[in-house]
Amino acid sequence: METQIRNRLVLIPPPFQGHITPMLQLATILHSKGFSITIAHDNFNSPNPSNHPNFSFLPLFYGLSETQISSKNFVDITATLNAKCVSPLKELLVDQIEKANMNHEKIACVIYDGLMYSIESVARELKLASIILRVTCATNLLTYHAVVQRQSTDCMSLDMVPELEPLGFKDLPMLNSHVMQQQIAKTLAVRPSLGVIYNTVNCLEGKSLHRLHELYKVNVFPIGPLHMIAEDSSSSSCVEEDYSCIGWLNNQATKSVLYVSLGSIASWDEKELTEVAWGLANSKQKFLWVIRPGTINDVSEWLESLPKEVKVAIEERGCIVKWAPQREVLAHQGVGGFWSHCGWNSTLESLCEGVPIMCQPHFGDQGVNARLLSRVWKVGLEWSNVIERNEVERAVRRLMVNEEGKEMAQRAFKLKNEIKLAVKAGSSYDALNGMVDSILSVNL
Ligand code: UDP
Repeated sequence: METQIRNRLVLIPPPFQGHITPMLQLATILHSKGFSITIAHDNFNSPNPSNHPNFSFLPLFYGLSETQISSKNFVDITATLNAKCVSPLKELLVDQIEKANMNHEKIACVIYDGLMYSIESVARELKLASIILRVTCATNLLTYHAVVQRQSTDCMSLDMVPELEPLGFKDLPMLNSHVMQQQIAKTLAVRPSLGVIYNTVNCLEGKSLHRLHELYKVNVFPIGPLHMIAEDSSSSSCVEEDYSCIGWLNNQATKSVLYVSLGSIASWDEKELTEVAWGLANSKQKFLWVIRPGTINDVSEWLESLPKEVKVAIEERGCIVKWAPQREVLAHQGVGGFWSHCGWNSTLESLCEGVPIMCQPHFGDQGVNARLLSRVWKVGLEWSNVIERNEVERAVRRLMVNEEGKEMAQRAFKLKNEIKLAVKAGSSYDALNGMVDSILSVNL
């Protein structure tokens, strides 16, 4: 009797939380479709293999130095990842191909993050099918395309970018170093053999997805939101989540709490934290606030240093944690708003739960996400973005108390249902099946 060959996929995320999470969600989805999964990963920010017993984890070292890691210079880190991954990845894949042959398996496809553009050459050399996972929104890719195509733009201009309206020239990303320009040009130039997965939904970004397909002529698979499709995925958090805040939320009135978190990278300095504390206290709203370790030296000391009235307000109306189980938090009925840096994962997680957002983009794609939230989907609050107590108080009350916040919440509720439908039986469901078919058909 002929033994059936199993298909194995090798997935390669870069070592950043916002990129690891969607890649592991994708791995969970593809495992449920019958593929065996290998994750190649660096020691730095490594996910915990024991949380993912169905996957094999293999070390792929990029040789990042401590100084580089602590510098948080992502352009520099990305350059190193791309420069250093080629040779160890080739060795790893050659070894995996041999092992697969002995185990009645086949390496059916290499799936890598869009930041790791050098991987395509390795896949081609080894004649392996390839797919890119893009973890930003589709429109973000188009903003890079617009910048690269125009060579230079007046980033202060208030005019609209004709093909990206309602995004203006000032919303386009600034490529402020030659290395960064090169990296963007390289990632846009990559043509993976099977196509590109976007962690987005057709009902959110149909027009942008269509344009990307027209521009790059590779298959487009909008299989998002990945976290929603990978329903039972275990935590991929690099930091321990503090579940005590769920107990606190259980005691709060429906939609009364503002969840405040800037994701895994952006942060406020001590002066800003104090203004935020004042603003939240004066808004008289309940809040759940994530202050990551390392944001300031000693959170307890800082809390102690606050004036008594702010301390009392935090004790009475607030809950502060180091890292929250964010998806559970956003799904909790007590949460009525999210003050967010508008990272794409946070944006999607909030949209899926119908939670309107107070937008405070910091860098990268966050500005584009914020514009989409406020101007296209109209579920995000644009405000001055000035971290000063009166500005904060006013913005929080606009979102949590005023009519405009309630209208945003209604629109967010509608959008949540559209997204659910796309996942259950609509565009995301179809795109996933289409992608699985294309992997299987090249491996017949
Ligand atoms: N996150 C979390 N707990 C927190 C803060 C963030 O689990 O207290 C998760 C969040 O659910 C999201 C990810 O961290 O999946 C942050 O990704 P995002 O793209 O929003 O921002 P980044 O961290 O990349 O800036």
